[in-house]
Amino acid sequence: MKDYVIRAVAAGGEVRAFACTTRNLVEEARLHHDSLPVATAALGRLLSAGSMMGIMMKGEEDKLTLQIKGDGPIGGVVVTADSKARVKGYVLNPEVDIPLKAEGKLDVGKAIGNGELTIIRDLGLKEPYVGRTSLITGEIAEDLTYYFASSEQVPSVVALGVLVDRDYSVRRAGGFIIQLMPGAGDETIDAIEKKIPMVTSVTQMLDEDMTPEEILTFILEDLGIEITDKVETSFLCDCNKERVEQVLLSIGEKELRGLYEEAKPVELCCQFCGKKYEFMPEEIGELLKSGK
Ligand SMILES: [Zn+2]
Repeated sequence: MKDYVIRAVAAGGEVRAFACTTRNLVEEARLHHDSLPVATAALGRLLSAGSMMGIMMKGEEDKLTLQIKGDGPIGGVVVTADSKARVKGYVLNPEVDIPLKAEGKLDVGKAIGNGELTIIRDLGLKEPYVGRTSLITGEIAEDLTYYFASSEQVPSVVALGVLVDRDYSVRRAGGFIIQLMPGAGDETIDAIEKKIPMVTSVTQMLDEDMTPEEILTFILEDLGIEITDKVETSFLCDCNKERVEQVLLSIGEKELRGLYEEAKPVELCCQFCGKKYEFMPEEIGELLKSGK
């Protein structure tokens, strides 16, 4: 199955919903970062959220950044998305390996720990919109649910799942977001509250070969669901040498001069996709001149 995101409305517009299947793009991310399962799951969950939240934005140039910083061994996860559901992301420590939870699940919460979730929406205005909340469990879906409720005042149900196979490849990935729009009636709220406990786990639904359409229909069928959009989603890194130069400049003039004086080529990797960029000593010299 190709990766895609769907958008839907229900209850005459009182509810909006998104669902995605992202197995291929999460597998691509895993290969870029050579991540172990718990880091693959953390990154995959945030990438799935990014693809759905990406299409919530309307402008062609709009950009979304989801940033998790935690005191657990993973350290942090960063994902960016655009309004066409093109996503990229990385985990600070992809090689983290911690014991499974009692029920045999990957312990993403422990790997992330306590910390903060920051969401930056660059909608082409003077200042980007920045929202920040504390992490609730570090499991990401719960943290986003809390973020939507407290920072954006949008009551939401967020479910994200990544299933990693024995050979560490990604078997399934995806999720859904269901949101109540302002003015949603009690009957609508009741209908959703009744249905959510019947949703076992999104990972299990995906593993039973349920499509995003089937998952949302299962939850919202009593509310007259209408699927309004289907968008392909993919891992896409738009890095180039100029952007990597900025990273090199950000280390500071003294360090940069040190590199220049070593008179050796410097290789830098893109954090998002691992692509290598080489800088010759004379290029570093040019950067030193221009960076002042
Ligand atoms: Zn890149």
